[in-house]
Parts: sequence; structure tokens; C-alpha cells
Amino acid sequence: MRRFGALLPLSVFGALLCVLGPGCDGRRPVADAAVAEPVAATLRPGDLALDFVSAVDYDTLRIEVDAFEGLAPSEAALERLVELLSARLDKPGGIEVVRSSELPRSLRAPVYDAEQVRAIADAFRDHHSGEPDAPRRAVIWVGYLPGSGGLGPEGETALGLAVDASSIAVFPEAIARSSPRSEREAVETRVLVHEVGHLLGLVNNGAPEQWPHEDRRHAHHDRSPACVMYHEIVPAAPGERSGLEAVRFCPACEQDLFRLGGRQP
Ligand SMILES: [Zn+2]
Ligand SMILES: [Zn+2]
Repeated sequence: MRRFGALLPLSVFGALLCVLGPGCDGRRPVADAAVAEPVAATLRPGDLALDFVSAVDYDTLRIEVDAFEGLAPSEAALERLVELLSARLDKPGGIEVVRSSELPRSLRAPVYDAEQVRAIADAFRDHHSGEPDAPRRAVIWVGYLPGSGGLGPEGETALGLAVDASSIAVFPEAIARSSPRSEREAVETRVLVHEVGHLLGLVNNGAPEQWPHEDRRHAHHDRSPACVMYHEIVPAAPGERSGLEAVRFCPACEQDLFRLGGRQP
């Protein structure tokens, strides 16, 4: 996600857009089998959606979280992520969050791109899908990093990155700079769920649309402002849900996940 630096009259947050790792308009080549790099790191967000959504190959999902010193994720954000995924993904073996490595200060940078995040994931990630001791467990890696994901073409700051097919980054310092204190937890939750949503193939990015809802002007995002896959954060209208309750997949996204092998809405 990115936050527009420009002043926006309608929102205290400004707009949030996402940065999809290796590019949403072209596929990266799959590495030669002789290359030692984990296969998931050579694929783009959405390419492994089936692994995460259905129970065909993996019936359990582990979410490994590696955070920088002092940048621990919000427990409420993680709980909301698990709550939403448990309702949508077919993982009869369960969905668990594992806090793993603390990332050292020496890796601090003001800005990270997808390649830099992937290098950190390669160095500190402890778990991958289909390990010998858990062959039916899929794994998503989440890095909580300082700084931001850089600037977009219009000067917007990235709050999150979908790095490759199984890795995302969240930038809590950038979230803190761009959000009122009272809303930070909700914005963090939205960034977290949004980036994981891209790994699940949303929108039209591995999970085919059952009916049209992709925002054609913002590829792989939902046209509904009520959906967590919308390209920006907008304040709740009077009478609408707010806070963590407002972070949710819309019925169209739920249907796409169901058709990919997820749980029935
Ligand atoms: Zn996005
Ligand atoms: Zn949606």
C-alpha cells in the first residue's frame, strides 16, 4: 500500500495504494530448478494463491512474523487477520501466527524495495511451505520493517509491499507518520490483510473474478471502498463499521476465494 503525500480534503489518512512486488503487469521467470532459491521467492504475488486458499495441497497455514526491534505487530491486527482468514480459507488443520526472528538494527534503512525485503526474508525466514516435518503446511512470511516501501510516481509513501508469492512487508513507522494515533491499529490491520489478500490472488490476480469487481484503473484492487482490497483507505461513513471491524473482504472477494477452494461464504 502507498499513502499519498498530497493533501486530500476528504480523508485524514490520504489514499493508500499497494505495491505489488515483482510487478503486476509482467510475470517474473520461474528460476531454473538448479537454483537454490526457494521457488516461492521467484514467483509473483498471487501465483501460489491455491496453496493458501484451498486444502488440496496444504491443510494448515502458518504465518511467520519477523519484526525489527521495537516494531512488534499489534496483537489485535494479527488476531483480526487470523479471524478473516479462518472464515475464508479451507485450512482444517488451523491457521497459526508464529513470531520468529527479531531483525537487527544493522538492517535499518529509510526505504526498502521488493528486492531488499526479499534479501531480509531469505536471511531470516525460518519456515517454508511443505517442509519435511510438516508437508501439508503452507507458510506466509510477514516482515515488520522500519522506514517505508518507497515513493510512488505521485509522491505517495508505501505502507506495505507484496514482495513475492509468499512474502509481504508492513511498515509501521510509515503507518504511524500517516495516521492519527487513534486509527493506527486499524490502518496497520488494513495494510496487513490487504497485502495478504494479494497473496491469496485478489483481485483477479490468481483468484479469477466470479463477477466483475476489479478496479480497472487500479489493477488487482477492488472497486468497492468497503473492501479491504480497495486501493486506498477511506474513512468510514456515518453509520458504517469502523476500526478493525471495518477491515473485511467484500462479498465479491469472498466468492472469488470460495471458487478457488476456500470456505463457502
Ligand atoms: Zn494492493
Ligand atoms: Zn473485494
